Amino acid sequence: MAKLSPEQSQFLKAQKISPASVFDASGLSQIERKRVMTALGVSFYYGGSPCAAGGHTLRTKAGHCIQCDTSKIAYQLRNSAQGHIYIAHSKSSGYIKVGYSKEHPQDRAAFLRNEKYGGIVDWDIRSIKFLEYDAGKKEFEIHAALEQFQKPVIYNKNGSLVECREIFQCDLNHALEAFKLATA
Ligand SMILES: [Zn+2]
Repeated sequence: MAKLSPEQSQFLKAQKISPASVFDASGLSQIERKRVMTALGVSFYYGGSPCAAGGHTLRTKAGHCIQCDTSKIAYQLRNSAQGHIYIAHSKSSGYIKVGYSKEHPQDRAAFLRNEKYGGIVDWDIRSIKFLEYDAGKKEFEIHAALEQFQKPVIYNKNGSLVECREIFQCDLNHALEAFKLATA
């Protein structure tokens, strides 16, 4: 499992990327990383090999260092302009996940359950909205609105410890309200 350094957290803040929007890819092969990131609809990761130029570890899904070249951030977000954002909820834990998906996320709940995302097996999709523009940005907005409830969950995935940063612990109605506000 990798931890974000204070410098990395500061960098994300300056770039208006919620810490909930970056994926901990430590211990994953490139193929596995791409598979999981695509399914989770996340754009940025850390925990991989450091870049040659600066030793940074925050990268786009395609592997570009966003600390060396911040224009990759806007590029990546344009790439996720159209799509669905959704709220998944686990009754047993009270956890909430806010996610983005290019395809319709109806099978996303099954994916999360099969992955045991965050060590949880009862994920259920509670709200979905298709957005023609700014879907990735709206997802960031909801992450930012719920930031105080962010609950980093560490779980064992195929033998390696992974940190889920996209999980929030708050009242479902509160999350649904933030979702409605951002997507109205
Ligand atoms: Zn770099």
